[in-house]
Amino acid sequence: MIDTPRRSGILVQVNGSTSSGDPLVRLLPRWVQQEWMADAACKGRTEHFFAPHGEQADARELREAIARAICVTCPVLSSCREYARRHREQGYWGAENDDERLEARRRPSRHRHRSATDPVIAAQG
Ligand code: SF4
Repeated sequence: MIDTPRRSGILVQVNGSTSSGDPLVRLLPRWVQQEWMADAACKGRTEHFFAPHGEQADARELREAIARAICVTCPVLSSCREYARRHREQGYWGAENDDERLEARRRPSRHRHRSATDPVIAAQG
């Protein structure tokens, strides 16, 4: 049984009860809707931002090129990128794929928030 979504997660019944006798466990949501998401240029185009199962390298390259072209027009690119880095998201967020995001997170902190000098963000004007 799945209860209706709530602010702090959803309640899910697991095999009738938990080991403590509580019939419900609380699952935290994977992510919570952010205000900036209302202005996302990718709304309704998620097929370009998340890899299908078994995606080949050349298909990924093409998909990510399309996603990037959408991201560079997006008014919330900076917020999206920062959010995805902070929450270790998977998929194409803020004109970065998983590898690029991981690389950015590994950079020393003084280079991590380079939005002002980032060519993608700078190209937005
Ligand atoms: S930057 Fe890209 S992934 Fe992020 S909200 Fe905009 S279009 Fe979507």
